[in-house]
Amino acid sequence: MRPEILYPLFAPVSALAGIGPRLAPLVERAAGPHVVDLLWHLPTGLIDRRSLVSVRDAVPGAVVTLRVMVERHLPSGHARRPYRVHCTDGTARLELVFFHAKPDWLEKSLPPGSERIVSGVVEHFNDAIQMTHPDHIVPPERLAEILAVEPVHPLTTGLPAKTMARAVAGAIERAPRLGEWIEPSLLATRGWPAWHEALMAAHKPVEESDLSPDGPARQRLAYDELLANQLALSLVRAALRRAAGRPLVGSGAHKQPIMAALPFRLTAAQERALTEIEADMARPERMLRLLQGDVGSGKTVVALLAMAAAVEAGAQAALMAPTETLARQHVATLTRLAAPSALRIGLLTGRDKGKARRDMLEAVAAGAIDILVGTHALFQEDVAFADLGLAVIDEQHRFGVHQRLDLAAKGRGVDVLVMTATPIPRTLTLTAYGDMDVSRLDEKPAGRQRIDTRVLPATRHGEVVEAIRRAVAGGSRVYWICPLIEESETSDLAAAEERHADLAKLFGPRVGLVHGRMKGPAKDAGMAAFAEGELDILVATTVIEVGVDVPEATIIVVEHAERFGLAQLHQLRGRVGRGERPSICLLLYGAPLTQAAKARLEILRQTEDGFFIAEEDLRLRGAGELLGTRQSGLPAFRLADLAVHGELLAVARDDARLALATDPELNGPRGAALRTLLYLFERDSVVKTLRSG
Ligand code: ADP
Ligand code: MG
Repeated sequence: MRPEILYPLFAPVSALAGIGPRLAPLVERAAGPHVVDLLWHLPTGLIDRRSLVSVRDAVPGAVVTLRVMVERHLPSGHARRPYRVHCTDGTARLELVFFHAKPDWLEKSLPPGSERIVSGVVEHFNDAIQMTHPDHIVPPERLAEILAVEPVHPLTTGLPAKTMARAVAGAIERAPRLGEWIEPSLLATRGWPAWHEALMAAHKPVEESDLSPDGPARQRLAYDELLANQLALSLVRAALRRAAGRPLVGSGAHKQPIMAALPFRLTAAQERALTEIEADMARPERMLRLLQGDVGSGKTVVALLAMAAAVEAGAQAALMAPTETLARQHVATLTRLAAPSALRIGLLTGRDKGKARRDMLEAVAAGAIDILVGTHALFQEDVAFADLGLAVIDEQHRFGVHQRLDLAAKGRGVDVLVMTATPIPRTLTLTAYGDMDVSRLDEKPAGRQRIDTRVLPATRHGEVVEAIRRAVAGGSRVYWICPLIEESETSDLAAAEERHADLAKLFGPRVGLVHGRMKGPAKDAGMAAFAEGELDILVATTVIEVGVDVPEATIIVVEHAERFGLAQLHQLRGRVGRGERPSICLLLYGAPLTQAAKARLEILRQTEDGFFIAEEDLRLRGAGELLGTRQSGLPAFRLADLAVHGELLAVARDDARLALATDPELNGPRGAALRTLLYLFERDSVVKTLRSG
């Protein structure tokens, strides 16, 4: 249960004074639904209004504060002309200019003959000195209030800056004083302020330097967020480890015939990963290991051999894939590779209903299936294993930490192996997986062809079409990727449909379309038609699955490549280059493209090293945008920017580990503060893993 002291922060933003039903949705869109979200909504700029000058000396284009006498109003008399108010301070005349003005409001706020403080940007226009729509108009007694530095918070269309400022101020007022969760010596060496002070300082910048993410206040807030993240992951890990594991040692009975029949030799990296995994499985503790490998690095066969060992040891294994399509493909691949062994492989997805499903469930429960492959349908309640010993999760970033727990709960001391295809930088590995043990496949199987990658303006569309015509005539298959255009799937879809119609006109009926709005079976059918060669060209939004394997596909075209993350482009590119024939990746960009954006795409042209690309992507774009956080399932940080605060992540991990080592149930005084921290960052679900949670 969330501690009571945090209740005010988890009220809706509409609970704040001045945020009514009209403004609340706007504040929500800009910051988030709860008061606490406003605390994390840090200013991105500041306006210095401290310069009180005379009208004559006001520098055009600068923000100034002026003390003036209101002389007279000149209503516009015409809707499109502005309403003007003449003022003076004795040095010069100032014209206040208002478009679409409400006369009553102007008469009330600027009564002729009265003195007013106005603050805003001055411009010289012909001979006049003007201020259009002053930011502030107040009576002279409020001068001190205006002569200040004003934070600029990110806004959304229709949301006035003043409203946002009021909302943030209201949120800070509600922020309670909380017990310190940071280790005192760390706080001292870093010179960080307490939480409440850090919030105040971060929201009230005085100098430009106060906006810097490595100032003490912002560093502290970033650290809080990272600590919550690392603590949550450590707790999940602790919960997984708490239940005793059991040693699983393979006999080789399945492994040997599989190895003997493999059409290739394992790479040194695959051998190493397998040795690490087998050693973990043989230990009495539970395994919690990440198998990280670039596209095409050969994770599947490693997973199969690990599962074979579990089965040889008398247990069952499960492989969970993020989508239906990938689950089916895994079954096909595993069945082929495992054919020389006696392994029995089954499939269970959400689409299986009725008798087929019941039969499969029975076989699994009776131990008549050795390896069950499926989607998240695997951890539905009615799925019971005879004896699950190893859970492999092909993550592709789509599952949360929680699902890992759920699948592991299906057996006794289940070993967990998480596979990830996206080469994420080391720092991000830590945010997504905490301190899991990691095996990296950092070597590609021999004989892979380099993918010829080219970066072209979209204006060369005609040439691209011609190249495709030649390739298709020569028997190649082509992916054509249309990007996410906006937040809205509808407009993405429209663009993809248009491109499909366009290409179908040129190439006839052997052009297919798959997109995110399609139902599973229709999507599978489209993918299958392409895999089986019934289609030459497949137009797709980014739904084409990360793991889909069509060796005959040798060209991939990506439209508006500049809108993708580098790591994402690298993933997409990995759809080709899987067969014997040379492959091409054409990255089309919409002109005009900045030099920096073009340089970014050039990185892909220069290298196929996914880890290098991911590091560069992180460096150039920051973690928030990396991989398209929205779809990736990676944690999106509000306060921490890993490009700046990356160093703090390891500190947070060590701190979290130490805190749990000394107080595993978080019952001590610092433990209580750490619990509050978890709730503050909405990690409520992991608190439940604590026995007294
Ligand atoms: P990943 O899942 O890591 O992207 P896969 O396991 O799908 O990669 O492997 C990609 C392709 O490489 C598959 O066709 C697989 O059979 C093949 N492969 C795997 N290991 C090797 C190897 N050591 N040598 C040659 N080919 C391999
Ligand atoms: Mg794969």
